[in-house]
Amino acid sequence: MNKLIAALALALIPAAALAEEAAPPAPKWSIAIHGGAGTLDPKAMTPERRAEYEAALQVALDAGAKVLANGGSAMDAIKAAIIPMEDSPLFNAGKGAVFTWEGTNELDSSIMDGRDRSAGAIAGVKTVKNPILLADTVRTQSEHVFLMGAGAEAFAVEKGFAVTPPEYFATPARREALERMKAEKLSALDVDHKFGTVGAVALDQNGNLAAGTSTGGMTGKRWGRVGDAPVIGAGTYADNRACAVSATGWGEYFLRVGVAHEICARLRATNEVKVAMADEGAAAEGVRTEEAQYIADAVMADVASLGGDGGVILVTPEGYAIFSFNTTGMYRGRATSGGVREVAIFGGEEKASATPDH
Ligand code: ASP
Repeated sequence: MNKLIAALALALIPAAALAEEAAPPAPKWSIAIHGGAGTLDPKAMTPERRAEYEAALQVALDAGAKVLANGGSAMDAIKAAIIPMEDSPLFNAGKGAVFTWEGTNELDSSIMDGRDRSAGAIAGVKTVKNPILLADTVRTQSEHVFLMGAGAEAFAVEKGFAVTPPEYFATPARREALERMKAEKLSALDVDHKFGTVGAVALDQNGNLAAGTSTGGMTGKRWGRVGDAPVIGAGTYADNRACAVSATGWGEYFLRVGVAHEICARLRATNEVKVAMADEGAAAEGVRTEEAQYIADAVMADVASLGGDGGVILVTPEGYAIFSFNTTGMYRGRATSGGVREVAIFGGEEKASATPDH
């Protein structure tokens, strides 16, 4: 009798559920972060300074990786990685943001969920400690995508954000950069050396992608100048069918190329071609890491052809974590379920393969 009940019960469980119980899908996640790209002189980088940046990048990377390893979402992972970089005075985001021409700090940020392409962005905000969280609140608690200035701050207050005094964001090094720019009639590029914007992209164990970017913009910006970082499609983009991208660099050029969307669009087209060309009934092979690298490099070459510089990080649905930059350095890091966990500053410093499971 007992046997009969067991057999009946088994017959009622769908085959898929049984298979799932027998072999849980292999954990597979991936995250990449950046803390800005720019003209970094290896000789000017003292060992102490290097250690300071590496430690800050490691904290951000570990925070994001922990969320993913525990089965958390890509959205939560990128926020966990970006918040410590916004809080660190080393990066040009949140505390430590560059100064505008008028001597204020104006913050821009954006975030995107690859599941449904929901997105949130803010620009020119002066009183929100963690702009990435406000961008995410625009995404989840408003019917809009992009809020700016005083309106974005009013929205923040309405949603319960504390009003952070503007002095919180100011650091002596960034003030000195503005003063030097004015006194010596330099361009932002001369004083920014490394741009310092922060960003993160992630793939979680459920196959979802997310991207986020946060910045103070460029030193001496005026007239309400906004760069690429808060613009969906330029500085940030995520689409589960293609990739998640966060950019950093000379924003005007990234805006003109539409960098983040351009990379995702080319990857999606590559995927679509593979599916269309696959033999009937056979699964199409996914985009390979060299192909994703090629596409990212090609779009960055396009930025360079217009005269712009900077870099991008991306993660693909296959879990490749990729960097591409045309500057001497980009503060960056990546971690995967395959055991990769590294931070790097100058070109060619990566030791490990970028794939998730190797
Ligand atoms: N892309 C940012 C901007 O143009 C700057 C940066 O990445 O450092 O505002």
